[in-house]
Amino acid sequence: MELLTTINGFLLNENLGLWAHVFTAGVILTLGFLGAPLWLWTVTLGLIFIGFSVPLSFLTFFVVVAVLFNIWPLRQYLVTLPIMRLFQKLGLMPQISATERTALEAGVVWMESELFSGHPDLKKMLHQPVATLSQEEQSFLDHEVEELCSMINDWELHKTKQLPVEVFDYIKKKGFLGLIISKEYGGLGFSPAANSAIVQKISSRSIGAVIYVMVPNSLGPAELLTHYGTQAQKDRYLPRLARGEEIPCFGLTEPTAGSDAASILSDGILFKGADGVLYVKLNWRKRWITLASISTLIGLAFRLRDPENLLGKGTDVGITCALIPSHLPGVKIGKRHDPLGIPFHNCPTEGVDVIIKAEEDIIGGVAGAGQGWQMLMECLGAGRGISLPAQAAGGTKLCTRVASSHATVRKQFGLSIGKFEGVEEPLARIAGYTYWTEALRRYVLSALNQHISPPVVTAIAKYTTTEAARKVVNDTMDILGGAGISMGPRNIIASMYIGTPISITVEGANILTRTLMIFGQGALRAHPFAFKEVNAIEKNDLKSFDRAFWGHMGHILRNTFRALILSFTRGYLALSPVGGTTKRAWQKLAWCSASFAILTDIAMGLLGGQLKVKEKLTGRFADILSWMFIGSSVLKRWEDEGRPAQDLPLVKYSMSLAFHNIQEAFDGIYTNLDMPVIGWIFRGPIRWWSRVNMLAAQPRDRLTHAVAQRVLADQEVRDRLTLGIFLPTHSGEALARLEKAYTTAKRAESVDKKIRDAVKAKKIRKKKGSAVIEDAYQANIISREEYELILNAEKLRLDAIQVDEFFEKEYLPGLSSQMHKPAVKPFLTGDWVQPAS
Ligand SMILES: Cc1cc2nc3c(=O)[nH]c(=O)nc-3n(C[C@H](O)[C@H](O)[C@H](O)COP(=O)(O)OP(=O)(O)OC[C@H]3O[C@@H](n4cnc5c(N)ncnc54)[C@H](O)[C@@H]3O)c2cc1C
Repeated sequence: MELLTTINGFLLNENLGLWAHVFTAGVILTLGFLGAPLWLWTVTLGLIFIGFSVPLSFLTFFVVVAVLFNIWPLRQYLVTLPIMRLFQKLGLMPQISATERTALEAGVVWMESELFSGHPDLKKMLHQPVATLSQEEQSFLDHEVEELCSMINDWELHKTKQLPVEVFDYIKKKGFLGLIISKEYGGLGFSPAANSAIVQKISSRSIGAVIYVMVPNSLGPAELLTHYGTQAQKDRYLPRLARGEEIPCFGLTEPTAGSDAASILSDGILFKGADGVLYVKLNWRKRWITLASISTLIGLAFRLRDPENLLGKGTDVGITCALIPSHLPGVKIGKRHDPLGIPFHNCPTEGVDVIIKAEEDIIGGVAGAGQGWQMLMECLGAGRGISLPAQAAGGTKLCTRVASSHATVRKQFGLSIGKFEGVEEPLARIAGYTYWTEALRRYVLSALNQHISPPVVTAIAKYTTTEAARKVVNDTMDILGGAGISMGPRNIIASMYIGTPISITVEGANILTRTLMIFGQGALRAHPFAFKEVNAIEKNDLKSFDRAFWGHMGHILRNTFRALILSFTRGYLALSPVGGTTKRAWQKLAWCSASFAILTDIAMGLLGGQLKVKEKLTGRFADILSWMFIGSSVLKRWEDEGRPAQDLPLVKYSMSLAFHNIQEAFDGIYTNLDMPVIGWIFRGPIRWWSRVNMLAAQPRDRLTHAVAQRVLADQEVRDRLTLGIFLPTHSGEALARLEKAYTTAKRAESVDKKIRDAVKAKKIRKKKGSAVIEDAYQANIISREEYELILNAEKLRLDAIQVDEFFEKEYLPGLSSQMHKPAVKPFLTGDWVQPAS
């Protein structure tokens, strides 16, 4: 009573006047910002109302509402039940098909759920363990992988379209096909981090050759058997796969089932043989199956039917995965697709009345029948989180190396082209994208190395890194000019340029990955309450719905307060896990997360199930989530590496880009929420405020200059940025040649400057080519040593900018085999598997 009188006296104290109201507002804002529980809101509001002596009728109403909401059995039956019924009647929740549900339930959520929460635990995000390599893995990378890379000749591969037998033998002999198979079965049992590092290095050597290592260690027979195979299947196949005695492939895609993979028509009919054993008669038509033409073991996805209900699972058992030995009668393999001329085996396959044993050949035995879709969804992380980001990181690093050395070595208008601002711009983009692609690759590996496979995170990794690689290789081509266009052994990036669309398309084509998977799945899976609400509604579970629905309301309330307060204070009130230079970036991430969370709820509330088909909106939501995730990985990378000061421009560039892209995506959503009144509010005042109070503009020219300078001039930064790729040392290799020209040119820069200064000071006359060097030496402006250095630099420079040329008979395909005889016996051709008659 005394407390109430004191509060009353304080709030109604005339001397305090406005301050009492300010104090009250402060208390409410603090509760909202911190997400206070319902009981604390009730007590605080009660005290405020009493303090302000509100009328008794209002106070009574407040008490009734407070009792109703705080005593949960009352709330459940009197408030939640009618709401739940209304939701069910109006169909306000999105309808989820069985295949979508399996995809949603596969895998787990990880750090993306922090960003979805609106109140991310940034410390937790920062302190996720760094994925490191064991000594054995590092040694493999330094020896076997190096050796393999030096055996591969990408140009030869391009010309002959065949991987030499000795290279593939080495791949098999050294266990490259069994990286993910445990040691127990004769594999190398490597971690996801090692798998990724290996793919990255080989990718930087040859985008075609890496497929032979990547695919067997991605989603396919080995991965599926490891997780779901019966003991007999593991014993039978895993050792043979590890030794390379079986060559695997995996067939899911069909002419009418690409992105919509669950709509496959390939089918299997279950029947009991005269011997009492269960068999499956399979018919399939698959296309674009990598390694199928040399495979001995086809992992096949098909729809299993059981007309006699022998399994007791109904007549349509569902998508099932099985292992089909390629030599079985009825298996047809032989022709090849030509994936943009990148030389790897990829072909259609057909099966006509192929008979397999259900228990022996269905993955997981008969218990695994109908579980195929779930298996595939759970194992997608391998390709999306490991192989493709690793390939992209290898490619972007190679581009950084090539573009920076070329921009130094290549001179036009008397200057290295890297000195021109126009060239600096794409160069900075190449370096910046390379930095964040690697940061993201490593962050995702942190999850995978902990045996966490979050599908939304791996989808973000697949989509953003392959898009980064596409941008980076285009920029590199621009910087190389004609040198990028002339094919030949001196052209290091042409294969990557040509083959980039392949990684964009496979493992879930990028448009779909962005618009459906990242946000579509994320909004339901990573949102703290949405999926629980949908499930509760479907199961008619009042108790769960009550918990999820009111939890969601509290979540919305807290995020509204957080979003508003962080927006008006530009994130300054958010707690950063670190101090110093990057503190503001962490705070801005917290601000973005709050705005993203509340906007997600608004969009879900306004559009309901319709949001799923509004892909232009979901794509923008996906961009915000992706760039927040990329930003977190960049900040984490910098901390993990011990905050190297020289890398700061790269960090700032990446964060500036991330915030700019987030800003663009927010604005796009505000402009396109097309609905009466609310649409106007978003297009008008909210968008106006968003532009006035921008997160960040594009990276500034000063910053792009600093980034370009780092990658052009700071060998340490350049090495760190491109760590993990294959750097050939043989002097005949194009990259080695370019590197040598680059390092020598760098060493000779001071000599070059001496000569230019002497010309400016009119000590010697301006002349072209080596004549001016000669004069400088004669005039004692440079020493003998400097004279030799700069002459050598010029010689190497001239050599490095040469491009390949071919005689007509070399160039024309009919004659080329004469001139480009493979150095070793060609690899098996595609038609060695006998087509069944
Ligand atoms: C070189 C290569 C190797 C391959 N290897 C294998 C393999 O080993 N095994 C295997 O099973 N498959 C493999 N594939 C198939 C690959 O997975 C498919 O190409 C991929 O799933 C996309 O299918 P699609 O090409 O039929 O494109 P489509 O499904 O026709 O899609 C075309 C475009 O439409 C977009 N799109 C489709 N639906 C939607 C939607 N709902 N919302 C938004 N956008 C949408 C897609 O993103 C894409 O951009 C390979 C393909 C290639 C080219």
